[in-house]
Amino acid sequence: MGPIGHEFVGVVEQAGAEVRDVAEGDLVIAPFTYSDGTCAHCRAGVTSQCVAGGSFGNHGIDGGQGEAVRVPLAESTLVRVPGSRHPDETMRSLVTLSDVMCTGHHAAVSAGVGPGSVVGVVGDGAGGLCAVIAARRLGAARVIAFSRNPARQELAGSFGATDILAERGNAATEAVLERTDGVGVDAALECVGTGQSLGTALAIARPGSIVGVVGAPHGVDMPIMETVVFRNIGLRGGVAPARTYIPELLSDVLEGRIHPGRVFDFEIGLDGVTEAYAAMDERRAIKSLLRVGTA
Ligand SMILES: [Zn+2]
Repeated sequence: MGPIGHEFVGVVEQAGAEVRDVAEGDLVIAPFTYSDGTCAHCRAGVTSQCVAGGSFGNHGIDGGQGEAVRVPLAESTLVRVPGSRHPDETMRSLVTLSDVMCTGHHAAVSAGVGPGSVVGVVGDGAGGLCAVIAARRLGAARVIAFSRNPARQELAGSFGATDILAERGNAATEAVLERTDGVGVDAALECVGTGQSLGTALAIARPGSIVGVVGAPHGVDMPIMETVVFRNIGLRGGVAPARTYIPELLSDVLEGRIHPGRVFDFEIGLDGVTEAYAAMDERRAIKSLLRVGTA
C-alpha cells in the first residue's frame, strides 16, 4: 500500500530555500490539495483545480498519516497558525480545516447559503456535521439535518441544527415539505455521495435554488431534465478549495466561534491506524484522529 492520509496539521521541521512564509518550528495546516497560488484557477479561488497541484497520498505524493510529510509547493500551500500552545480542543478543530470543515463550508457556499436561509443537510458524517456549522456561520435561520444516530443527532444540534429528522428517501422529502409549507429548502447540501442522498437533496430543494454537492457520487444518474430544466434547480460544489477557505475559518476556530474538532470521537496512535479506519467503516466513530509523535 502506498502513502495514505490527506488531512493533517504539523510542525515544520525543515523548509526549502524558496519557502519564505513558513519556517522551522511553525505550526501549519495543510489543505488536502497542494497548489501554486498563481495559476488562473488558483487566482479565481479554485485552488483544488490548480494546474500544478495535486492531493496528498496520491501519485507518489506523501500522505499525512506518517511521521513526516514532504509538502510540495509549501510556500503557497501551507497556512501558518498564529500563536502557540493552543489547547487540545483548538488543535482538533485546526485539523478539520485541512479538509472536512472546508468541505462542509464549500457545500454551503456553493449552494448560496446566506442570512435567513432555510438549509437542508443530507449526511450525518463529519462533512455533513461541518456543513451544519458552515450554514449557521453564514447566517442560516434554519438548518434541517438528517440523522438516525443519537450521538450524531446531538452533535448536529450542538452545531446549530434546528430540526433533526430520522426519515429517509421519500419520507424525508415529505417531512421537509411539511416543515416548509410545501416550499422546500433554500439550499440543500449533499454531503454523502450516493444516489439516494443526491435524490433527497434535489427533491427537498425549492425551485430556483442550488444544491451544494460535496459527496462523490459514483454511478449516479442526475435527472437533468426533471431538475435543472423543469424545476429550475442548479448544482454546484465539487472538490473544496480548502486553501482559499482556511484563512477565514481559521480565525473563527482560534477565537472559539466554531468547534468543528468535536467530530473527532475516536483517537489512536499511528500504530492503530487500521483500527481508526475500521471504527469509521463500522460507523462506531464519526471521525478518527491520529496522534503522531506528539508528547
Ligand atoms: Zn494554481
